[in-house]
Amino acid sequence: MLNVSQYILSPREAHEAEQQWRVVKRSVDARQRELRVHLTVLTDDEGRPIAKDAPIPLYEPPAFQDVHKAVRSAIIIGAGPAGLFAALTLLEHGIKPIIYERGKDVSERKKDIALLNRNEGLNPESNYCFGEGGAGTFSDGKLFSRSKKRGNMQRVMELFHYFGAPDTVLYEAHAHIGSDKLPTIIKNMRECIIEHGGEIHFGTCITSLKELKLKNYELRIPVILAIGHSAHDTYRMLAAEGVALETKGFAMGVRAEHPQELINQLMYHLKGDRLRVTGYRNTDELIGYVGNASYSLVTQVDGRGVYSFCMCPGGHIVPAGSTQGTCVVNGMSASHRNSPFANSGMVVQINPEDIEGNDPLKGLLYQEELERLAFQHSAISSQPSVAPAQRLRDFVEGKASKDLPKCSYLPGIVPSRLDQWLPTHIGPRLQQGFRDFDRKYPGFLTNEAVIVGVESRSSSAIRIPRDPETLQSVSQPLLYPCGEGAGYAGGITSSALDGINAALKIAGLAQ
Ligand SMILES: Cc1cc2nc3c(=O)[nH]c(=O)nc-3n(C[C@H](O)[C@H](O)[C@H](O)COP(=O)(O)OP(=O)(O)OC[C@H]3O[C@@H](n4cnc5c(N)ncnc54)[C@H](O)[C@@H]3O)c2cc1C
Repeated sequence: MLNVSQYILSPREAHEAEQQWRVVKRSVDARQRELRVHLTVLTDDEGRPIAKDAPIPLYEPPAFQDVHKAVRSAIIIGAGPAGLFAALTLLEHGIKPIIYERGKDVSERKKDIALLNRNEGLNPESNYCFGEGGAGTFSDGKLFSRSKKRGNMQRVMELFHYFGAPDTVLYEAHAHIGSDKLPTIIKNMRECIIEHGGEIHFGTCITSLKELKLKNYELRIPVILAIGHSAHDTYRMLAAEGVALETKGFAMGVRAEHPQELINQLMYHLKGDRLRVTGYRNTDELIGYVGNASYSLVTQVDGRGVYSFCMCPGGHIVPAGSTQGTCVVNGMSASHRNSPFANSGMVVQINPEDIEGNDPLKGLLYQEELERLAFQHSAISSQPSVAPAQRLRDFVEGKASKDLPKCSYLPGIVPSRLDQWLPTHIGPRLQQGFRDFDRKYPGFLTNEAVIVGVESRSSSAIRIPRDPETLQSVSQPLLYPCGEGAGYAGGITSSALDGINAALKIAGLAQ
């Protein structure tokens, strides 16, 4: 009989153990002054660790059915994590998925992203948000979720692994894949869907649900709406066609970037001779095993949460807008997370009552306003994707930055007074938030760091309410709003799980 045992080890000991034993969980614990690694390993009935290469299957592989001639089908709008995992789940239940995706396949999409990073313009249908794999494709690919209640998270990891993610996604507490590996995994998913008889139509933006339904309604084909939270035009279409929508709380702010070396020192407590206790002789060897340090910071200012969001160690800041004339940033990293920069969203909670009016789209309008404002403040550069920026300490102390430090953001940054133009809901709270974070990690508030505006798409400002039992829209039968855009998920894994749950509901429908 197999069992598990837990060990708390120095990084070097854990590294050696991991090369020999079958690890089922690993987490790096930097909360105490001594960096430790928690390992859970498989053991036999006498408590001896099982060898790494023992012939024990990692998991049950998925059993996809051939649906070329299936009698049942379901339409999926959007090929992000929610849409793709819904499609894979439908295949497992013998239902044919028909996917419509406004963007391009992942290889073509890469070319538009390269143009964007070279400041050669934005393709509104093919960018960091739109295209095969959705917003998660060119991301950090962090695969963890705060919510453990939504479903079988391990199954999401297994499917990522099955399609090409490294073994670490099966056991690392804070697993990540990286934007260099994600496109191949997404392509493998697509090939599997098509090979088994599913359909994917790229370059197809659904501009009317009514028209789509007219074509399919007599057949009572269910529609999974997995549009993500950046398709503002699609939300407007849904509102115009009478789909129930409501405003929900969301968060906006800026992206902060520090030298990674500084973050490693602060988070891994590496000052003086502290490296010694890790078992390594030099920092590069340590980082080679535990990876560059990340952080997760949270405080309360004037009754609103201020927190770090989507931290990307060894990453890059990227232009993540999908509309001309706006400036939106986000973060990503490659699998090795080895750039010299550490970036993170730093956002302020915004409640529906913080914005005037009753329009369900009011949060979305507020996001757009801030994104245009950021664009105007970068317009002096006359380059379309340049972003406004300020040194971190200057921002907190209300001073202009005469120059800016090196930054990972490829299209470039220009000095700007974010302290003056960020709305009062956001700017002063962020300033206080950074002071609080510096109290926890002295040295965090430094002019070696820079903030770049604006991080406006950290979460959906809209919910598409659905019946908790059937997961169908409260206003439209057979419409399954799911994923981040429906307001019921945030991040790759929870969106994927939400897609799985929608597909399972469809599989359970009477034929
Ligand atoms: C740069 C960046 C980095 C990120 N990093 C991480 C990370 O490390 N970890 C993490 O958990 N999350 C990360 N996120 C967030 C994560 O990507 C999203 O939470 C997740 O992708 C949401 O999944 P989804 O399937 O609900 O929607 P999306 O991924 O947004 O996919 C929606 C899809 O629907 C398509 N679509 C929209 N409207 C229509 C229409 N009318 N017709 C046809 N198609 C349509 C879009 O083109 C898109 O492909 C990141 C996001 C960005 C932008």
